[in-house]
Amino acid sequence: MATIRWTRDIGWHDAQIEARRPFEIDPACSVLHYAQEIFEGMKAYRSKEGKISLFRPLANAQRFRESAKRMSMPQLPEATFIQAVEKLVDIDQAWVPETEGSSLYIRPFMFASENFLGVRASNEYTFCVIACPVGPYFKSGRSTVKVWVSDEYTRAGRGGTGAAKCGGNYAASLIAQTEAVTKGCDQVVFLDATTNTWIEELGGMNVFFVFDDGSLRTPPLTGTILPGITRASIIELAKAEGIYVNEAPYSFGQWRADASSGRVKETFACGTAAAVTAIGHVRYAKGEFNVGTGDEGPVTQRIRNKLIGIQRGISADTFGWVHHVT
Ligand SMILES: *Cc1c(COP(=O)(O)O)cnc(C)c1O
Repeated sequence: MATIRWTRDIGWHDAQIEARRPFEIDPACSVLHYAQEIFEGMKAYRSKEGKISLFRPLANAQRFRESAKRMSMPQLPEATFIQAVEKLVDIDQAWVPETEGSSLYIRPFMFASENFLGVRASNEYTFCVIACPVGPYFKSGRSTVKVWVSDEYTRAGRGGTGAAKCGGNYAASLIAQTEAVTKGCDQVVFLDATTNTWIEELGGMNVFFVFDDGSLRTPPLTGTILPGITRASIIELAKAEGIYVNEAPYSFGQWRADASSGRVKETFACGTAAAVTAIGHVRYAKGEFNVGTGDEGPVTQRIRNKLIGIQRGISADTFGWVHHVT
């Protein structure tokens, strides 16, 4: 694990890399009470030639600063963030798997580590990076997922923390995820908190719709959605291929109507953990429907292969997204 400490009087200091060990936490440690905690999720990939690389680590470092700002936490400089990740991956090279679909999952995070009970921003923080090898996200492998559209729980509201990658967002969304599982689904789809109309995202993934005219649509970044790096990369990839990408609100009612009329051919979720995954089936309180054939469609497949190809060093990195570590 890599750690760096921050205190209000001296700033960032005491950077260390050591064998992973438990933290010793005082019962008054402020993160346990007021939940100032943010994180990132990224992967190190091994190419066929054995070289190890990261995918757009600067984007993670920048988003980590944005999350910190929203949660009244100190902003770790991007170069320091990247250096901590690089050093850990370099030391843990042997843990980067070679198997197709596998990678080293990297989890940078930061939490308030001052011991006090009082409502104000902490004066001490701990930044840490850990990593572990992972296989494909969905146990069933290549198949599509079923989603549950929650009409009871929402994930983020206007002025809230929806755009910050903080643990608290997940704490609030787990009940909906549990509900999805009891409904026989893999993931939950959240609608907007104000009108319960507009599709926002899944618990930990952004969402895209593929139309019969070949265009893509994805909900816009209005502050309640997490700005996914996979989402941004797919928008750039699609635009470079001449595909029209509409970043515009899309209602659940319209999705239902368009899936039934055939205007929407495919829907997929995207994020670092699962890359690109087709949504084949949708359930909600009053019914259920299939998207397209219910199987992975050709556009989803092409976008996934293109993205994974770049990440794994199979296709040319025309966007400059690949960051070599070894
Ligand atoms: C991390 C995350 C995503 C996906 O972001 P990527 O940068 O593509 O991994 C989407 N939604 C939520 C809520 C997230 O926490």
